[in-house]
Amino acid sequence: MQTQARLTVDVARLAKTGERLTGELDGAVLDLGNTAGLIEPASGIRYDLRVEPIDSELLVRGSVSATVACICSRCAARFETPIKESFFVASYPLEETTDIVDLTADLREAIILLLSGYPVCQEGCRGLCPRCGTNLNEASCRCKSEDADGRWNALDVISLSRGRTKGAQSGRSAGCDAGKRNHVNGSKRSVSNGGTEKEEI
Ligand SMILES: [Zn+2]
Ligand SMILES: [Zn+2]
Repeated sequence: MQTQARLTVDVARLAKTGERLTGELDGAVLDLGNTAGLIEPASGIRYDLRVEPIDSELLVRGSVSATVACICSRCAARFETPIKESFFVASYPLEETTDIVDLTADLREAIILLLSGYPVCQEGCRGLCPRCGTNLNEASCRCKSEDADGRWNALDVISLSRGRTKGAQSGRSAGCDAGKRNHVNGSKRSVSNGGTEKEEI
């Protein structure tokens, strides 16, 4: 099928009962700007529309679709995905002087609105290991257990900072890192107990 650069409706020649328009616009119409290759058109914009003059308006309804090539925001794999607006609706005022109605911009916008800012190649994409870069969809790496440890370390930091602010009031707080917390409490207490810290050490 030959693609077109624009889709226009010649109002004067349009059947009073409306017409069906099908075809495909050039992929270049999508004109996504500089996406650094993250999203590119992989097809033209296909349309299947019912175009109907109703009173002083041109009513356009139907479906608009395209295929785009994306870079997965998690694993960086390139993949193609279909985009479809099944309920495209637009209306254009028809005045005495209206000869041509250009639908191109609205068809383009219908596709753009459906593009994700964070495309993923599959719903369960496991992405890349943040440490070694292994594609976790294809293989596993040895960083896993260290990562788990890393998460607990982050909790330790939170517990410690709580210990610094509240610890002086109560030394009873128990937790999985009670040892560290008591250590903080201990030093805090020795400071608040009248500057005897140096003598104790
Ligand atoms: Zn992915
Ligand atoms: Zn890794």
